[in-house]
Amino acid sequence: MADYYSVLGVPRDADLDKIKKAYRELALKYHPDVNKTKEAEEKFKQINEAYAVLSDEQKRRQYDAYGPEGFNRRYTQEDIFRGSNVEDILREMGININLGGFSFGDMFGGTRGDGQDIGQNILYKVDLTLSEVADGTTKEISVRHVKTCSACHGSGGESGSRQSRCSECRGEGYVTAVSNTFFGRIQTTQQCQRCAGTGKVYEKKCKACAGKGGIVANEKVKVTIPAGVKSGMRLRLQGLGDYGRDGSGDLFIEMNELQDRAFSREGDDIVTKVSIPFYTAILGGEIEVPSLRGMRKIDIAPGTAQGTRIVVHGQGVKKLNSNSRGDEIVVVDVSIPKSLSHDERELIEHFRSINDGPEDRRRFGIF
Ligand SMILES: [Zn+2]
Ligand SMILES: [Zn+2]
Repeated sequence: MADYYSVLGVPRDADLDKIKKAYRELALKYHPDVNKTKEAEEKFKQINEAYAVLSDEQKRRQYDAYGPEGFNRRYTQEDIFRGSNVEDILREMGININLGGFSFGDMFGGTRGDGQDIGQNILYKVDLTLSEVADGTTKEISVRHVKTCSACHGSGGESGSRQSRCSECRGEGYVTAVSNTFFGRIQTTQQCQRCAGTGKVYEKKCKACAGKGGIVANEKVKVTIPAGVKSGMRLRLQGLGDYGRDGSGDLFIEMNELQDRAFSREGDDIVTKVSIPFYTAILGGEIEVPSLRGMRKIDIAPGTAQGTRIVVHGQGVKKLNSNSRGDEIVVVDVSIPKSLSHDERELIEHFRSINDGPEDRRRFGIF
């Protein structure tokens, strides 16, 4: 039984802000979309549990009073997460749950019982340019999915049509089939196909959906994508997946960053390489560099060496769930001419002739 304070790495007198901050950092590091190791899954459960308890004043008092063992005898997993905002926080952070894999349902005992008809989840990938990632964006996407039939509101019956007992299953909702196999007679019980387990059928089926309750259609969905997301992150839009009699599935939007022509991304920083003439490197000067918002002028200090990284503060990608931004980093590439005119050659040779002593060699850093 791990101690919740050490799980989050906070002191015992930490305030709520500190606890929340520690939790967010750890959740980003260990969430199962990013970190696929078995240890990470376990760790992720632990930090969620620790946060659910320590962020709740009453539960925290109990935990402090009884210690880990005593607390766990008093609280079930379900109790621990009841009333907690863990899921909301994760959603805010753009953390979501693998399709068909790990889910909070699995984790906390399951909310989708057997025999329920829940619609399929849908995965949709969106391409994002660097400037969309840097500032966040809104995308309108067109999703082809099974949506609730608007004619019958998902019931599958024509309006005004009465329901009667399903003749297939005699209103039981399930049917028993007996089959003869090599191992003998096997009896199986299955949900009734005709009434989908409800035991009732409409006398007249809805014409629009042929009694299915859902129809395949394209739907336009507006998605707000926060700044600072990374490829592979998923946003979950609850209930926008396929229609199901007992509830629709979810729509997952997966981020796909497009390669930028001018910049590469290093976390929240953006990096670009610019060539400058060797005399600007020596004398200094002003040059133009690309930025997220067109070209920008920056100063080159006299004596700038090849590979120098010039940091333009706060001009990178806006950080996820924060108002601060990363930096733009300009990597200097000093350009040396491959050929010289007669006059140029004379000037450089003159420069060399007046810089020939041991002191000059030291000044150039040559030993
Ligand atoms: Zn219908
Ligand atoms: Zn039936």
